[in-house]
Amino acid sequence: MNRQTSETLYKEAEDLIVGGVNSPSRAFKGVGGGTPVFMKKGKGAHFYDVDGNQYIDYLGAYGPIITGHAHPHITKAIINAAENGVLYGTPTKLENQFAKMLTETIPSLEKVRFVNSGTEAVMTTIRVARAYTNRTKIIKFAGCYHGHSDLVLVAAGSGPSTLGSPDSAGVTKNIAQEVITVPFNDIKPFEEALNKFGDEIAAVLVEPIVGNFGLVEPKPGFLEEVKQLTHKNDSLLIFDEVITAFRFHYGSAQELTGVQADMTAMGKIIGGGLPIGAYGGRAYIMEQVAPLGPAYQAGTMSGNPASMAAGIACLEVLQQDGVYDEMDRLGEKLESGILKHAKTYGLPVKINRLKGMLTVFFTHEEITNYEQAENTDGEMFARFFKLMLDSGVNLAPSKYEAWFLTTAHTEKDIDQTLEAVEHAFSQMG
Ligand code: PLP
Repeated sequence: MNRQTSETLYKEAEDLIVGGVNSPSRAFKGVGGGTPVFMKKGKGAHFYDVDGNQYIDYLGAYGPIITGHAHPHITKAIINAAENGVLYGTPTKLENQFAKMLTETIPSLEKVRFVNSGTEAVMTTIRVARAYTNRTKIIKFAGCYHGHSDLVLVAAGSGPSTLGSPDSAGVTKNIAQEVITVPFNDIKPFEEALNKFGDEIAAVLVEPIVGNFGLVEPKPGFLEEVKQLTHKNDSLLIFDEVITAFRFHYGSAQELTGVQADMTAMGKIIGGGLPIGAYGGRAYIMEQVAPLGPAYQAGTMSGNPASMAAGIACLEVLQQDGVYDEMDRLGEKLESGILKHAKTYGLPVKINRLKGMLTVFFTHEEITNYEQAENTDGEMFARFFKLMLDSGVNLAPSKYEAWFLTTAHTEKDIDQTLEAVEHAFSQMG
């Protein structure tokens, strides 16, 4: 496959944009290097690059594009919004309409606030939780990603209930001291951390269904226990639903798991592909936020008409009968096909899948936490990734990411993808 124009553009980008990309995960560092493909057009489940190559897309822009690229209903809503002016700096009816859709769908969201990214949404839930509890520390789970604000760019210390160390230059030790990281799906270290830091813990932050060390579901009872212990400690439970909200069914992961959070952060899908974030929770907690309360949070672009219109249109598409069942059906077909080919070629493959989201791990082990995900075979994934790309299947360039199905993927796309998988495995086996 000729990707000469991508090569040339990447060289130019490297001179102009740091690392040639505007978000590090777009570079091919996680797959041993290479040139990111410069896409020119997306339509439905397909991408077209600047050299005229066509791909079936499972990146889904890292989650938001659940209805496929350039969905006509969303495109129309964006054009309509643009024609009326993209930014007002005043309240609009669209904000009410969208807030109503979210609060009516997700019971724990009594009040919301729109922001511009998942990072902002999570960052603010922490600030509000600190304001509400008058405490400073948070507990998070190893491998969960919560955006790039200082407090959540902190990794575990040497033991499970030690204080964190900065994961990024520029994050100070003092900030890292406010974060305790414990393993996902393991209640004991979590309980130990709560016992050790007790009344210093403002909040416990978790992706209720993990999407950032691959797709990993909570073990039965894990979230329930986390909630129960968190509340016993008078701390708040924050669910980071930036990936999970509206991903597996129409609504939140908290409805799916039956565990309600005190506060929720969202993003990605709810913007229909335009920049967005939202956070919300119980009214008595949200009333901490300015102008009602002492916790400050603001945004020039927040609640802008274009993002609101795109988000509403996206959720309208997702309200249609059967869309999630179809993503589930195609996901199941993909999963069983990949496993069948892996068996044929004797490759160690495990798949975690929920509905239309899945991660293919190169390992013999079940993956239930970050440490296990780290131990999967990255070199094998890198080979697989590149072979798939050359066969016209676009995956995320990292063994820790998921494949996202959309409402636009068809049986034919899955058949073609499985042919590409078989070809890739035949080269790897
Ligand atoms: N939280 C989760 C679970 C995410 O996956 C991400 C992004 O991938 C974020 C927060 C940050 O969102 P954004 O990239 O919109 O700032």
